[in-house]
Amino acid sequence: MNVHDSERLAGLLENAGLVEAQEGQADVVVFNTCAVRENADNKLYGNLGQLAPVKERHPGMQIAVGGCLAQKDRETILQKAPWVDVVFGTHNVGSLPALLERARHNNEAQLEILESLDVFPSTLPTKRDAVYSGWVSISVGCNNTCTFCIVPSLRGKERDRRPGDILSEVQALVDDGAIEVTLLGQNVNSYGVEFGDRGAFAKLLRACGSIEGLERVRFTSPHPAAFTDDVIDAMAETPNVMPQLHMPLQSGSDKVLKDMRRSYRSKKFLGILDKVRERIPHAAISTDIIVGFPGETEEDFQATLDVVEQARFATAFTFQYSKRPGTPAAELPDQLPKSVVQERYERLIALQDRIAAEENAKQVGTEVEVLVTAQQGRKASETHRLSGRSRDQRLVHFSVPEGAAVPRPGDLVTVTVTEAAPFHLIADPQPAEYSVRRSRAGDAWDRSQAESCGIPSSGSAPGGAKAVSLGMPSLPVRG
Ligand code: SF4
Repeated sequence: MNVHDSERLAGLLENAGLVEAQEGQADVVVFNTCAVRENADNKLYGNLGQLAPVKERHPGMQIAVGGCLAQKDRETILQKAPWVDVVFGTHNVGSLPALLERARHNNEAQLEILESLDVFPSTLPTKRDAVYSGWVSISVGCNNTCTFCIVPSLRGKERDRRPGDILSEVQALVDDGAIEVTLLGQNVNSYGVEFGDRGAFAKLLRACGSIEGLERVRFTSPHPAAFTDDVIDAMAETPNVMPQLHMPLQSGSDKVLKDMRRSYRSKKFLGILDKVRERIPHAAISTDIIVGFPGETEEDFQATLDVVEQARFATAFTFQYSKRPGTPAAELPDQLPKSVVQERYERLIALQDRIAAEENAKQVGTEVEVLVTAQQGRKASETHRLSGRSRDQRLVHFSVPEGAAVPRPGDLVTVTVTEAAPFHLIADPQPAEYSVRRSRAGDAWDRSQAESCGIPSSGSAPGGAKAVSLGMPSLPVRG
């Protein structure tokens, strides 16, 4: 959500005539903050402190702070860092260019925080990070009240976007070359609550299924309490909805779930996973887990380990509980000592890493279709492998057999997996185990590269096979 908001901020500023600073000194610096992460405030004020002397040396430079922490801290930001020019909240992202202009014109810091959504953010211009895939917001805010979470107080009640608007945005992305879309919401499967249609999310998935050229549909995040069978059916019956599900567990202990005010219990959670796997046998399921919630006993933690063992998650995002001022859990007694949380966290990581390695090992020898991304693995310069995501969202590093066609970001390759690690798969295929499908997204990548180099695009040949690739970055090939 935060990354997508940053894409909007970049789009708004470009629309207002600014251009991205490539190197050297930026005239405008925008911090899009997230209050969910630990120490967000320390990091923000540390960064602002470092910028103070930079701004002094560059008269006219402007600094803006937005996002959840700005919504929370408001004027405190200007008190602690009076060299900041603009503070804006989560509900008025679209005001940023006007606020920067007003701050410049009046030579005075501008603070504007709204209590509820002004314009649905998706109607704002967006500068997308990748041409081959895009985020599409279906709702913002959340009607739940998880006791550890700051989101409801900073993002407000759930606001749902109309299905027609969502589908038009998806269509526009596809027309621009995207072949993958991720539907975004704090709680996607309660989508429709605002306009009284409980089946709206399943219908939305099915509607995405009939958008021609859209090859991969994902979504994040659902909530186990509201996850209904109609969504599982829609996933199973819509070929372009990917066999992947992110289902936040948070804790395997029913007592802790109750204290977290999460209304499902571990049995229901595991039941959902069973149903998903029954309908979509190869679904990769990921999760979020918080370790060390106030009052969590060793027995409670063991219950989490037991659920993790049974659930066989492909990936887990694991967090050590830490207080978020302003949340009910921050006031609970029995906050656990750091050493206890750390020790449990390490046990959980060891278990999940083992499971992830075992699950990935089952992929060795199978064929996977990989959507090639522009990001390369850390060791790409040594291994000369390219990277991408499989249909079930596993990270795959693959090499191109000598003499074989090199894919562009956005193209699809089919490779046989040769090795597995807990966090990625490796494919060093023989020529017969490798094929490339050039896609519209790869053509769009070529065009975007040509445009960023200032070279007029030649357009692209249908199928792409003979398209001239302009401005193409050199991609490593296995020598
Ligand atoms: S459902 Fe998610 S966003 Fe909503 S309160 Fe709970 S953790 Fe926060």
